[in-house]
Amino acid sequence: PAPLAGRTALVTGGSRGIGAATALRLARDGADVALTYVNREDAAKEVVRAVEAMGRRAVALRADSADADGAAEAVERTAEALGRLDVLVNNAGVGLLGPLDGFSVADVDRVLAVNVRGVFLTARAAAARMTDGGRIITVGSCMALRVPGPGGTLYAMSKAALVGLTRALARELGGRGITANIVHPGPIDTDMNPADGPYADGQAAMTALGRFGRAEEVAATVAHLASAAYDTGAEFSVDGGHAA
Ligand code: NDP
Repeated sequence: PAPLAGRTALVTGGSRGIGAATALRLARDGADVALTYVNREDAAKEVVRAVEAMGRRAVALRADSADADGAAEAVERTAEALGRLDVLVNNAGVGLLGPLDGFSVADVDRVLAVNVRGVFLTARAAAARMTDGGRIITVGSCMALRVPGPGGTLYAMSKAALVGLTRALARELGGRGITANIVHPGPIDTDMNPADGPYADGQAAMTALGRFGRAEEVAATVAHLASAAYDTGAEFSVDGGHAA
């Protein structure tokens, strides 16, 4: 039987890239899926159609993770639309790389609002609404573990914060059988980080496998954690050996 049959999942930033691959994979594993997006309604609707084609229910919600009320609203709208919430995948994130002295205060606020505050608020709202035995999976980054060159101060800071959040959520929610884990992708071929982009060869060379990963390869680990029972408070790299 499908490991997630009868479960529902919310994937933030599920219209493209790793989030879209995750929404599709969770649906393939039997879950009904809600996904958030900000701009690309067309892409979000395409994911919804693909999930529905698998015989699962799907709903696309416009909800900016940078909006303090939006995070909790997305959780409520998911529970309303799908009846319950079992799995949260905190995937939405922004990458902003550059020299330390080049970031404005607005840049710092923006990255922290999406990558950290939005994750905290969504996880909190989800925990309150979630069934016991629920799953919280957060998408971190290989940059939380190893920063291979200059330019990563803001992004690495934001992603490293999620490691602490994950451990603390595991302690906070373990009594309800809710697990919290973080998945650190390496260089993954998406719009954010295309495998034919200007810095791609250097990134591929940083991995042990010498190549970019595919969004589906990250989604496979997220899906595993959505049904696994005894993993919690832990970090999982899907990075081709970037951290090795
Ligand atoms: P993409 O830029 O390809 O896709 C981003 C997705 O997030 C889109 O669906 C986008 O929606 C959505 N999104 C962006 N900002 C917000 C927001 N403020 N609120 C809600 N949704 C938002 O990114 P990736 O798939 O590459 O990255 C996904 C996650 O993986 C991020 O957290 C990223 O930091 C992390 N990551 C990626 C790596 C990589 O190499 N690709 C490496 C390590 C980590 P819309 O379509 O509407 O714009």
